[in-house]
Amino acid sequence: KNNSVAVLGLGLMGTALASALLKAGHDTTVWNRTAAKTGPLAAQGARPAETVTEAVEAAPLVIVCLTSNDRVRALLEPEAPALAGRTLVNLTNGTPGQARELADWATEHGIAYIDGGIMAVPQMIATPGAYILYSGTDEQAYATHRPTLAALAETKWVGKDPGAAALYDLSLLTGMYGMVMGVAQAYALIGSAGVPAREFAPLLKDWVHAMTAGLVPGMAEALDSGRHLTDVSSLAVNQAALPNFLDAFTQQGLSTELFEPLQTLLDRAVDEGYAADGLSRLATLIKKDRIAA
Ligand code: NDP
Repeated sequence: KNNSVAVLGLGLMGTALASALLKAGHDTTVWNRTAAKTGPLAAQGARPAETVTEAVEAAPLVIVCLTSNDRVRALLEPEAPALAGRTLVNLTNGTPGQARELADWATEHGIAYIDGGIMAVPQMIATPGAYILYSGTDEQAYATHRPTLAALAETKWVGKDPGAAALYDLSLLTGMYGMVMGVAQAYALIGSAGVPAREFAPLLKDWVHAMTAGLVPGMAEALDSGRHLTDVSSLAVNQAALPNFLDAFTQQGLSTELFEPLQTLLDRAVDEGYAADGLSRLATLIKKDRIAA
C-alpha cells in the first residue's frame, strides 16, 4: 500500500506521531528499542515490528524520531540496503550539518532523505497550530509523501538544502529559549518577594505577548532596511538600565548569570557607537568576527 508508514522511535514524540498516523487511517508499522512501548500503539491498530529491518521493509515511507542524530546514524547505517528506494523522514532534532551528513549518506545508498523539524510538543501533534518544517534534495519524494505527512501537522517546505529545516527549527527554538531564560528569571525575581507564580502569570503572559508582537516584526524591519535608529528605546537607555536588573537580582539572592551576557553585548554596542540605535542593532553584533580578539 502506498500510504503505509513505518515509525522508528516511540518516545513521547514518536508515539504521538504514530498515533496521529493511525487516526488518519494509515497502515502503520512501529518499532522501538524498548519493545514494550509498542503496546499502546498496537492497541490502536499499529503493527509492531520485531526488528528495524522488518519495520523498514513494511513501508515506502520511514519516519525516525530518536534522541539524537548520532543514534539515528548508528541505528540506520546497517539498514541502508533495506532503506534503498524508500523515503526516510528524520524528525530528530539536530544541526544543519548533521542533516547534510545524513543526506549525503542516504543519497550514496539510494535513499530519499528528508529532514524535518517539529514545531510542536507531542500534545500538539495533529492539532491546529502545529507544523513541521521539511527540507531535502529530493523534492519529488516530499511531494509524494506530503499527504501522509500532513496527518502529523501542517507541512512547511523550506528548501532543497537538507540543513534548512534544522536551521529554521533551531532559529525558532533559539527565540523560545531566550524567552525561557527571561520567564525563568522573572518568576525567580517576583518569587524572591514571596509572590506566587500563579498570581504573576497573567501579567507576565500578557507583557511577553505584547512585547513580542511589537519587537519581532519591528526588529525584522530594521534588520532588512539597515535602519536601526529608534524612536522606541535606545541602546543607551537600555545599557543604563541593565545594571538595575543585575543589582536587584543580587539583592534578592538570585544569580545574574543569565543576564550578564546581555550587559556585555549592550556595552559593546554602545562602545562601537550605536548608542542611539534600537535593540535591533544587537542582532548585527552577534557575529563572531565582530568580537575584538
Ligand atoms: P524521548 O526521550 O521520549 O524518546 C527518545 C526515543 O529515542 C525513544 O524511543 C528511545 O528508545 C529512542 N532511542 C534513544 N537512543 C536510542 C538508540 N541508541 N537506539 C534506538 N533508539 C533510541 O524523546 P522525545 O520523543 O521527546 O524526542 C525525540 C526527538 O523529537 C528529539 O530529537 C526531540 O528533540 C524531538 N522533539 C521533541 C519534542 C517534544 O516536545 N518532546 C518537540 C519537538 C521535537 P527507548 O524507548 O528504547 O529508550
